Amino acid sequence: MADKTGDRELLGVDDARALILSQVAPLAGAERRELHDALGRVLAEDVISPIDVPAHDNSAMDGYALRAADLRGDGATRLRIAGSAFAGRPFAGAVGAGECVRIMTGAMLPAAADTVAVQESVKVEDGFAVIPPGQKAGQNTRRRGEDLRAGGVALAAGKLLRPAEIGLVASLGLGEVAVRRPVRVAIFSTGDEVQAIGTAAKSGEIYDSNRYTLWGMLTRLGCEVRDLGIVRDDPAALEKALREASAGADAVITSGGVSVGEADFIRTLMAQLGDVAFWKIAMKPGRPMAFGRIGPAFLFGLPGNPVATMVAFYQFVRPALLKIAGVAPLAPPPAFAARCGEALRKGKGRTEFLRGILSFGDGGWQVRSTGAQGSGILRSMCDANCFIVLESERGDVAAGDSVTVQPFEGLV
Ligand code: AMP
Ligand code: MG
Repeated sequence: MADKTGDRELLGVDDARALILSQVAPLAGAERRELHDALGRVLAEDVISPIDVPAHDNSAMDGYALRAADLRGDGATRLRIAGSAFAGRPFAGAVGAGECVRIMTGAMLPAAADTVAVQESVKVEDGFAVIPPGQKAGQNTRRRGEDLRAGGVALAAGKLLRPAEIGLVASLGLGEVAVRRPVRVAIFSTGDEVQAIGTAAKSGEIYDSNRYTLWGMLTRLGCEVRDLGIVRDDPAALEKALREASAGADAVITSGGVSVGEADFIRTLMAQLGDVAFWKIAMKPGRPMAFGRIGPAFLFGLPGNPVATMVAFYQFVRPALLKIAGVAPLAPPPAFAARCGEALRKGKGRTEFLRGILSFGDGGWQVRSTGAQGSGILRSMCDANCFIVLESERGDVAAGDSVTVQPFEGLV
């Protein structure tokens, strides 16, 4: 792996992501979980429906269930109202010739009935319903098994279980699903200047924010996070931390220590402990990054600047962790075009991820930047609701130009 890209060569964003995805593989194994404990997990096996959905023919509207064959072609039809059918309380008999049954949404269609006339269109006179002309046979009904047949695949393995999926499984009468275990991720920060909160930062020192953003992003992804704290820029301390982190983790994520000038002793150490490549990615922010394996764990060495850490996480680590978690098929984060409300300077030859504020108005999506874009300005991520992605070969952007945006909401 270490030889795939030379140190001086710049790697494109898409190439870097593809290289990472080609290396990582889904976790094996499955565990059964009750539905409340399955939210955010990934299905390990297909969910097979034990029942037809819907389980019986039923009405899609409040109205009158009738036999289409009774309807007159030349005008209104008078049908005797033989009874009522409610959801959970079906009409006991069959609908006879010249009859109809008052029916509520979701109620079982009585035997022999095949069509529902909506309540608002029907006049009731002396126990008879007057059905206006223009009804279509079969209308306003839901047929048994039309959504899903018993024995069919309701949800495929690889599906991330969101509230809709949890509800769907429940609708089949199933209380448990087979899911993958959460991905185990160990994190630590590096840097002599990085201080833990709770200690007084001296001049030249900064508080550690990366472990908190990483913890937050990983938790939202459903990972099990192990936090190993802050590690000094010292080979022995780093070696100890890397050994400890990689034992029992699927992935290790570090921040800091991978930029030029800092990388040398880390590179030597990581080469001794595992198989790790140091990349320079053609992007801003987030140019330096390490990726490889240490023991059983994948290592992601992210740059230390707080925005760079988050951008690199979203662009590279997140898709890799989703693949490891077993999510399939893997979809790229949602991206679409928006009109840029301001001029932006952009150098060619690298992809830039600006922090943007996206809104809908004046007939389309509009975006503007959050202002100063320094990679240390974490506030820019707080103000933003999207990345503005300026592709590698793109030059300056004029106000009114179309740009690509990636909304954050789609990323969590
Ligand atoms: P590095 O990648 O180690 O060269 O760090 C780049 C910049 O990010 C430096 O200004 C660091 O002080 C800052 N930095 C590194 N680690 C952290 C962290 N855990 N939290 C906040 N800032 C950091
Ligand atoms: Mg550092």
